[in-house]
Amino acid sequence: MTARLILGKEVSEEIYGELRVRIDALKSRGTVPGLAVVLVGDDPASQTYVRMKGRKCEELGMHSVTEIMPGSATEEELLEKIGELNRDERIHGLLVQLPLPGHIDENTVINAIDPRKDVDCFHPTNVGRMLIGDPGFLPATPAGVQQMLVRSGVETAGKHTVVVGRSNIVGKPMAAMMMQKGPGADSTVTVVHSRTRDLAAFTRQADILIVAMGRPGSITRDMVKEGAVVIDVGTNRVDDPSSAKGSRLTGDVDFDAVKEVASAITPVPGGVGPMTICMLMANAVKAAERAEAQVMT
Ligand code: NDP
Repeated sequence: MTARLILGKEVSEEIYGELRVRIDALKSRGTVPGLAVVLVGDDPASQTYVRMKGRKCEELGMHSVTEIMPGSATEEELLEKIGELNRDERIHGLLVQLPLPGHIDENTVINAIDPRKDVDCFHPTNVGRMLIGDPGFLPATPAGVQQMLVRSGVETAGKHTVVVGRSNIVGKPMAAMMMQKGPGADSTVTVVHSRTRDLAAFTRQADILIVAMGRPGSITRDMVKEGAVVIDVGTNRVDDPSSAKGSRLTGDVDFDAVKEVASAITPVPGGVGPMTICMLMANAVKAAERAEAQVMT
């Protein structure tokens, strides 16, 4: 068997098409959806992500604000900036690019963001709402995975979904979302992590295997059941002397071998990657729609 590819580029283009219609509708009523991204310091990977987010906003005709603060900025200065953006009515979505410099407490910063603008869905209010199945927002990467499953026709109800990884950004919310009632969910969920004994015994039971470990090539062919759907969230830069850059991106799954047993699989790059920004934009549009509805009530 050679697996069907599930491509984030295709799925995200479909979603962007729908978002454009919603953005045009908002604009026709006088609301331009606005997203603010705050970057502290000069981490090159973070700079790239922030640039990509700004560019995508502009492409979609949204209002985009990028606030760049020096790595020496204090927690107080950052909180002040967040306060300003919380109060700015042209800003509907607000996120602070992580990681932050060591002298700034991430939780304090996340807690300072108005939950109505928290498009990353990191604020405890939004995490709690997601868990009880009444989501304000859904976290971008897990929401992107769920959309890939739904829009490529993968049945999730009654299936055994195994999530490898338990981070607050991917693994935990992914597991919580797959066990909810509704489309793209209703799964029986198992979560495994670095303290799990005999990882392969669990991954081999998966009808749907979602991998977010950050360990290149860790999921090998013998760890995957024939016909499973494999979603590789892992994005790892590894040395590759044969490439012009001297490195390349690779996933957590041994793609070439696993595609021979899986029924569907996401490649890296080109799989989950494009979905994260797409779902972030979807959250920003949703935030603008909600803000508009609040003004009208
Ligand atoms: P974290 O490092 O925060 O979490 C990794 C998880 O994998 C942890 O729960 C860890 O277990 C588990 N793990 C590590 N080694 C093993 C092992 N040998 N066996 C079983 N479990 C293991 O990473 P993130 O969740 O933030 O990200 C995971 C990957 O996804 C990364 O490659 C990241 O770059 C990528 N990513 C991609 C995104 C995209 O847009 N495509 C967005 C976000 C992340 P424990 O908790 O016990 O340490």
